[in-house]
Amino acid sequence: MKNERCQDRLYHDLLLSEETLQVRKEIREFAEENVAPLAHDIGQRSESKESFPRALFKAMGSFGLFRIPFGREMGGRGLKRPITATVTAVEELAYHSNSIAAIYDVHCILAGSALNIAIPAVRERYLEPLLAGDIVGAFATTEPEASSDLSPQAIRTAAKVDGNGYTISGLKRFITNAPVADFVIVLCRTDAALTTFLVDMASPGVSVSPPDLKLGNRGQLTADIHFDGVHVPAAHIIGGLGKGLNVALMMLTYGRVGIAASGVGMAQAVFDESVARLLERKAFGKVLAQFQHWQFRMAEYATRIECARNLYLKAASRIDDGETSPEPEAAMAKFFCTELACDIARDGIQVLGGYGFMHRLANDGSTFRAEEIYRDSKITEIYEGANEIQKWLIARTIFGRQVVG
Ligand SMILES: Cc1cc2nc3c(=O)[nH]c(=O)nc-3n(C[C@H](O)[C@H](O)[C@H](O)COP(=O)(O)OP(=O)(O)OC[C@H]3O[C@@H](n4cnc5c(N)ncnc54)[C@H](O)[C@@H]3O)c2cc1C
Repeated sequence: MKNERCQDRLYHDLLLSEETLQVRKEIREFAEENVAPLAHDIGQRSESKESFPRALFKAMGSFGLFRIPFGREMGGRGLKRPITATVTAVEELAYHSNSIAAIYDVHCILAGSALNIAIPAVRERYLEPLLAGDIVGAFATTEPEASSDLSPQAIRTAAKVDGNGYTISGLKRFITNAPVADFVIVLCRTDAALTTFLVDMASPGVSVSPPDLKLGNRGQLTADIHFDGVHVPAAHIIGGLGKGLNVALMMLTYGRVGIAASGVGMAQAVFDESVARLLERKAFGKVLAQFQHWQFRMAEYATRIECARNLYLKAASRIDDGETSPEPEAAMAKFFCTELACDIARDGIQVLGGYGFMHRLANDGSTFRAEEIYRDSKITEIYEGANEIQKWLIARTIFGRQVVG
C-alpha cells in the first residue's frame, strides 16, 4: 500500500535552501524506485554475509548518493550546505528502510568523513572507490568493555610502534558493515592517548566473526573484528597521533545528527501509515479518525515530527556553518528524534490493531511497516551515543562541566 506523504501537506519548507530541496527531491525519487521495493525483504531477512544489499549499495554509489557530503576537490558534489543535504538524504532513506539509512550513515558520514582528513595518498586510494560504491567502509570504536566510555583507560585495542608503522591488536564489537567492509577506521590506544587508524580489511591478522543476529535493522550487518598483530603504516593515522578521541567524537557528532534524521524518517513513515489507516478503518460505525483520542494523538505526533525535523536540520546547519561541536542541538536532536521514532512506532502498531503486529498477512500477502519500525527504531536510542549520554551533554551546556562532570 502506498501511503500519502503527509509531510508535503502539513509542513512548510520555509527554511530549506533550493539546493537542499533539490537533493531531497532526487533522493526521494531514488528511494521510492530503488529502496522501497526491497525494503520489506531487507527488514525481515536474517543476517548473513549474503544478505548485504550489494546491488542496491552499488546503485546508491552510481546515483551519487555517497558524493553528497564531499567537496568537488574530493570528488564530491560540492554543495553549499553538504551536511544539511546529507542528513536530509538519511531521512529519505530511513522513510523506507532504516537499515539502508544506517549503512549510508556509517559508510558515508563516519568512514567517509574520516577519509576526508586522511593524508592525500590514503585519501586518493580509498575515497573515490568509496564514493562510487565500489568498496564498503566501516568505523570501529566499540569494544566488549568500552563504548559509551571511550576514554584511553577503557579502550583496550592497542597500537604499538613497529618499525615505520604500528602493530594493532584487540577486538572491536558490533561493527556495522564489518562482514563486507574493505577498510575500517579504528580507534586505538597509543600509550596514554587514543589514535585513529585506517586498516585495510585484507591486511594479515584481520578477521571477522559471523554477523550478529539482531532484533531489527537486519540489513545493517554487524560483527566483531579481531586484530591480531596487524601492521599498519604510519601514513594510515587519521587526524594525527594522539588525536583519536577528537576525530572519533567529531565523526560521531556528524553521524548522530544522521541518526536523528533517520528517527524522523521512520516517524514520518509510521505517521503516514497510521493516518491512512485511521481514515479507512471503521469501528462502531465510524472511521477511527473520528475518535478524538486518535485525533489528539496524531496532532501531538505531527507537532513532535515538525519539532524533530527542525532540530536535526538546525544541528546540521550549524555544522555547515563551520561548528564542529554543534551542542546542544546535536544531542537534543539525537535523543528527541529517536525517542519520537520509538514512541510513534509503538502507537502505530496500536492504530493498526492486530494487523500492526503482522509483518505479512498470510491470507492476501499484505505487509505493514509499523512492526518493522518498532524493531528498527529501538537501536537508534542506543547507538552513536546512548540517549542518556545525549542528556548528559545537554546538561553540561545548562549547568557547566564543573557541575555535571
Ligand atoms: C546495530 C548496531 C550497530 C552498531 N554499529 C557500530 C559501529 O559501526 N561502530 C561502533 O564502534 N559501534 C557500533 N555499535 C555499538 C554502539 O555504538 C554501542 O552499542 C552503544 O554506543 C552503547 O554501548 P554499549 O552497548 O557498550 O553499552 P554501554 O556503554 O554498556 O551502555 C549501556 C547503557 O548504560 C547507560 N549509560 C552508559 N553511560 C551512561 C551515563 N554516562 N549516564 C547514564 N547512563 C549511561 C545507557 O542507558 C546505555 O544504553 C553498534 C551497535 C549496534 C547494536
